[in-house]
Amino acid sequence: FTSVLDRTQASMQDASKEAGQLGTTLTVFGEKVADASDGAGVGSLVRDLSNEVLRMRHSLESLSSQLESSRGDIDKLSNELRRARDNSYLDPLTGISNRRALDEALAEQCLLTLASNAPLCVVMIDIDHFKRVNDRAGHLAGDRVIRSIAQQLQASVKRQDVVARYGGEEFMLILPATPLSGALTLTERLRTEIERTTITTGIPNTPSLKVTVSAGIAQQRLGEMPESLTGRADKALYVSKQSGRNRVSLDQ
Ligand code: GH3
Ligand code: MG
Ligand code: MG
Repeated sequence: FTSVLDRTQASMQDASKEAGQLGTTLTVFGEKVADASDGAGVGSLVRDLSNEVLRMRHSLESLSSQLESSRGDIDKLSNELRRARDNSYLDPLTGISNRRALDEALAEQCLLTLASNAPLCVVMIDIDHFKRVNDRAGHLAGDRVIRSIAQQLQASVKRQDVVARYGGEEFMLILPATPLSGALTLTERLRTEIERTTITTGIPNTPSLKVTVSAGIAQQRLGEMPESLTGRADKALYVSKQSGRNRVSLDQ
């Protein structure tokens, strides 16, 4: 941006200098015309003047094309900036929202409910015995499993819902305008779909894999802040793990 602006400023300074010179030339021209006694003298002054105007015109044309190219450069830079900003909210492995996007979205949703009074649920989802997948099929296959689950979750929720990778093999859903019963129905459906899915890793000599997930759900209490809400969903997830995995628990 700085170099685009520097170049533009230099072109404008050139044009402004040219304009200044033209002004001086015009003043001198006026004085000379007043003094000139014959037509030939005036003719030569007008030729000089017309050359001067031509130079000014060239200078303005070059300024205009410089501005046009600067505009193109600035558009390109803004696009790059937008892309960088968008990427900083995405998890590179799965392409879904990352922790930063999750934190911002949850903070926003927790505040919105203060005004709307609409129910808000969060769901913490964790892949069961994932260490075994890595140990048996390798970390690359493990990565493919994480990606596959992320895509499955993303494809199964409504547009307003947020699906994010919380960390390692953990995901979080933010479900605005959803009561506990709705969140439970959705999460149960997701859990069953995942249980039934065979994941092909695409890695040679690696068998297809099946995994299950455990989940914990909490509904926001009046004015409850993100940390506490997440903590309760995590507590419910822990209950699911403790009671045998591949299940969904609610924090009432
Ligand atoms: P549990 O059912 O209790 O959740 O057991 P678990 O094995 O899933 O849980 P644990 O927390 O013991 O292990 C999680 C594993 O996930 C350990 C870590 O190496 C692995 N992991 C975390 N992030 C990634 C990742 O990006 N790719 C791969 N391949 N593995 C990951
Ligand atoms: Mg975990
Ligand atoms: Mg796990």
